[in-house]
Order: sequence, then C-alpha cells, then structure tokens
Amino acid sequence: MVKADPFENATKQVNDACDILGIKDKGLRDYLAIPNRLVRVKIPVKMDNGKIRVFIGFRSQHNNDRGPYKGGIRYFNPEGGVKYMEREVMALSSWMTWKCAVVDVPLGGGKGGIYVNPKTEKLSDGELERLTRRFAFMISEVIGPEKDVPAPDVYTTGREMTQIMDTFSKVTGNRYQPGVITGKPIPMGGSLARNVATGLGTAYCVREAAKLLKIKLKGAKVVLQGFGNASTFAGEYLEKMGSQVIAASDSKGSILNPKGMSMKKLIDWKNNRGTVVGFPGSKKISTEQLLTTKCDILIPGALENQITASIAKKIQTKIIAEAANGPTLPEADPILHKKKVMIIPDILCNSGGVCISYLEWVQNNMGYYWEFDEVARKMESNIVRGLKDTYNLSKKHKVDMRRGAMVLAVSRVVDAFNQKGIWP
Ligand code: NAD
Repeated sequence: MVKADPFENATKQVNDACDILGIKDKGLRDYLAIPNRLVRVKIPVKMDNGKIRVFIGFRSQHNNDRGPYKGGIRYFNPEGGVKYMEREVMALSSWMTWKCAVVDVPLGGGKGGIYVNPKTEKLSDGELERLTRRFAFMISEVIGPEKDVPAPDVYTTGREMTQIMDTFSKVTGNRYQPGVITGKPIPMGGSLARNVATGLGTAYCVREAAKLLKIKLKGAKVVLQGFGNASTFAGEYLEKMGSQVIAASDSKGSILNPKGMSMKKLIDWKNNRGTVVGFPGSKKISTEQLLTTKCDILIPGALENQITASIAKKIQTKIIAEAANGPTLPEADPILHKKKVMIIPDILCNSGGVCISYLEWVQNNMGYYWEFDEVARKMESNIVRGLKDTYNLSKKHKVDMRRGAMVLAVSRVVDAFNQKGIWP
C-alpha cells in the first residue's frame, strides 16, 4: 500500500484553516504551507569495521516569522525510504510552526533527522557518536540559538543533544552555546520539569476543558492508552487533581477496573513486570474495549491512527485529550464533533514539551536557571491561554477544537508575517 504523503496532509490542514479565516490569496496560502528551507546532507561515517558508510540527513525549516525554528531530530527509517522521510520532515516542521504558535511560544517550526534505525541496525556507541557529530557539523551553518534550535525526537536522547551542542560549540569558535539545542540532560543545561512536561501539560489542558464543560474533575473517570512518558505523567497529575484512572494499556495489552486504580501502584507493577497487564483487581480487555469504555476523559497517549470512524461511533467519553501525535483519524473528527465530545488536539494537548523546551532555551540564553515550580507555572500559563483561545475561536467559527487550534496558529503566523512583509 502506498502511504499517504504527509506533506500533502499538512498542506491540506493549512488550506482548511485559510478557508475558515477567509484567506483566499493563493500566494499567502503557499507561503504558509511551504517550508522556507530544506537542507539535505550526506553524512559519511567511518564504521567500526573500517569501512565508510554514507547516511542521508535532513533539516526542514518551515517558518520563522515568530522566532527561531524549533523541532526535533529523529533517527528513523520510515517504510517509504529516504524520499518519504524528506516529505515527513517537511510535514513535521509545518506542524511544529503551528504547535509553537498555538501556545504562543515565540519560536517557529523545524524538524530533521537521519535516515537510520539505530535500534535495528545495532550501531555501536562510537558509530552513533561519529554519525551525530558529523551531522551536527553538516547542519552547523543553519542551526544556532538565534536561528534554529533542535530537540530530541524518535530514537534520539539527551546524549545526542549533548554531542550536537558540543560539536556546534567547537565549530563556532569554541563558544559555550547550550541554547543551540534543547532536551539536554540537567548538568548540560537542561531544564527542570522537562521529563514531566508533556503529561503535565495534558493534565492542565484537561483541567481547563473540564471547567469549560462543567465537568467535575473530582471523581472523573480517566482511560489511558499507553503507559509511557506522556500518559503516565498525565495520569498521575490528573489523579492528584482528584480523578480516577479506571483503564490503562501498553504494547502488551489493556486492563480495566471500573472502581479505579492507584497510579503509584500501577507504575510500580509496570516497572516490576514490564506491563500493566495482570494488575491486581483489573481484568484484561481489548484495545477497542479500552477506547470505548464509558469514562469522562480518554487519553490516547501512545500511537497514531487509533480512533477510527467505527471506534468514534462507539466512544463514550466527554473529553479526548490527544497526548500522542495523530491518534485520531480525520474521518472520526466529524463523528465526535456531532456527539459533542471535546477533542483537545495534539498540537495543543502535547505542547507541554515544546513549552518547556522554549523555557530551557530562555534559561540557556540568560545563563540563569529556574526551580521546577517556576518552569511548570510558566508552562501552565501558555497552555491554559492556548486552550482558552482555541475554545473561543472554535465557538466563534463553529468548528471543532482541532480546526480552532489551527485557525489560532495560522492567524498568529499571518499576523507576524503582515507586520514584517517581504524583504528584499
Ligand atoms: P513512550 O515510549 O514513553 O511510551 C509509549 C507507550 O505506548 C509505552 O507504554 C508502550 O508500551 C505503549 N504502546 C506501544 N504500543 C502500544 C499499543 N499497541 N497499545 C497501547 N500502548 C502501546 O512514548 P511517549 O514519549 O510517551 O510518546 C507517546 C506519544 O506521545 C507519541 O505519539 C509521541 O509522539 C507523543 N508525544 C510525546 C512527547 C514527550 O515529551 N514524551 C511530546 C509530544 C508528543
């Protein structure tokens, strides 16, 4: 099966937002959709066996009207090959522009990576470091604290971020420049609260959505799909706010206990057994049963393309908080909208990570570091405003929250563009 072109999807979303905003000018639509620059680099690496292997890497810089480009660097080998990856990073860089704009973070959109799967190809630490540093060298002219600030993504971690920062610092005249990249370990200039950012941001979104819908969080029933970074912290913070997790899942299966489960005990169980399955008092259910369990808050926090049209018809929740990227298929949106289920769209719901990346960059640039609570408070303020602005726009234009978020983001970028115009 030929996979859909991700960049065409991204372009369609921009055009849909332009339709709602009444932007008819084809030139402005193209300006908003097409990345400013796409860099493709050859990365030769001396492998451990003495042979040279050539990798291909990308950096797509979509829009910087509101600030330097921002977005992850992934090491991945999508099925469609190098050409598909090129289209994918273009699309992902576009989504980063809208994600930053929706929570009013003064950064633009970027994305990049190397066509490689370090897990299945079993690259050694040395090979991986040489690959990372050579890639950093190849893109060093286009990144920088005032130009483009990458971050970790699929199969990259704080270790690669440190190596990119160190390489960049060396090739730019041995200047210490932690602000060139975010997602660094704390001793390398990383920010407190980054590890919990996405889940905490999701919990803030749910809290505000519940207020708007007049749902009491105390006793509200939560279903978590996935039990990794985003979903466990979302579950833990929602539990602190008075809600109750009644179902959860991971790659090994799904479980339900309508009476509620303690997040701390569930995390301990998962840490000891490698899965949530078998948790005392719960029963095993299917993925479809998990997604359609009667609850107040459903958090798809694992994979994309989970909520299909047929699942949407059976869903029995009031709020869907998209902690994962792209968990809902486009054909499910109108069904859920008609059922008055509020979707907190991914670009808003999981933007806690990018908010704290922004705050990491700010701390790096000023050389002064905040406490956990200070960082969390600043992130909360951006996310809460983003949610309220999205809600108000979706009401004004009579569209769902996904379209509302895109309209908000696109209008913010258009505003910035109109102030500057085109030069030269
Ligand atoms: P993670 O690797 O920490 O966790 C993923 C979880 O999904 C694991 O518990 C895994 O067991 C589970 N899973 C895998 N296959 C599953 C299946 N078939 N059914 C149910 N669960 C399954 O990943 P994460 O960082 O939490 O990311 C999850 C999602 O959130 C992704 O879509 C990611 O893009 C998105 N996201 C994460 C962040 C972040 O900062 N972590 C930021 C933005 C978006």
